[in-house]
Amino acid sequence: MSAIGPVWGAATDIGTRRTSNEDSYVAATPVFAVADGMGGHDAGEVASAAAAGALARLAGLTDVTAQDVQLRLEAARARLQALPPTLGRSPGTTVAGVVLTEHEGRPHWLVLNLGDSRTYRLQGHVLEQLSVDHSEVQELVDAGHISPEEALHHARRHVLTRSLGAASSLAVDYLLVPVEHGDRMLVCSDGLTGELDDSLIAGLLRSRPHPQDAAESLVAAAVAAGGRDNVTAVVVDAPRD
Ligand code: MN
Repeated sequence: MSAIGPVWGAATDIGTRRTSNEDSYVAATPVFAVADGMGGHDAGEVASAAAAGALARLAGLTDVTAQDVQLRLEAARARLQALPPTLGRSPGTTVAGVVLTEHEGRPHWLVLNLGDSRTYRLQGHVLEQLSVDHSEVQELVDAGHISPEEALHHARRHVLTRSLGAASSLAVDYLLVPVEHGDRMLVCSDGLTGELDDSLIAGLLRSRPHPQDAAESLVAAAVAAGGRDNVTAVVVDAPRD
C-alpha cells in the first residue's frame, strides 16, 4: 500500500423530518463505509452502529479481502442476533463502501454493498455508480418495467431486497476495482441520492478540492433540498503514487 494514505472527509445530518439519525459511518484507512439503519425505537441506530463498528475493526490493516469483510459483517449480524427481542420491527441496516487493498500487487478498491446505500466513483468529469441497489425498484428497472427516473419517485422505492439483520443471509456484493490516478470515491446513504441527482452530486464533488469540504457540501445540499431522510456522505481520494 502507498506510504501516503488516502485523504478523506465525512459528514452526516439528521435531516429536517426525522427525530433521530439512524445512519452510521466509518472512515478509518483503509475502510470507508456507510450504514443506514432501520427498525422500531432505536433499532436502526443499533444496527447501523453494529455494522460500522464491525468494519472499523479493519482499520490499519493491509491486503484486506472480501472474506475479511464478510467475517466482520457476520460478527455484526451475531451482535444483532444476541439483542433481546423488542416490540416493533427487528433491527436491520444497509452497508456500503470501499476498502483500499492490494490485489495482484496493485492497489484496488474493494467495493462492498448490501442494501441501497451507494458507492460512486468520480474520474475526471465522469461519475459512475459502482454499487447496484438491492431494492424492489432496482429490480423493476433491471426488468425494464420502470425507468431510473420513475424509480426515484416510486411508492416502494424504500423497500430493500437485501440488508444486514439478525435473519440476513448476508448476500453481500463484492467488486474489485483497480485504483486509478485521481479517483474520488463517494459513499452515501439514500438520504443523499433521494434529494440530489447525479449531475448535482458530480458538480459538488468536482468543485470542492478537499474531501471534507466535498462531504459537508453534499450533505448540506441534500438537507437544503428537503432533508426528508438522514443524510451521510463519505468522500475518499485515492492515494497519490
Ligand atoms: Mn435512509
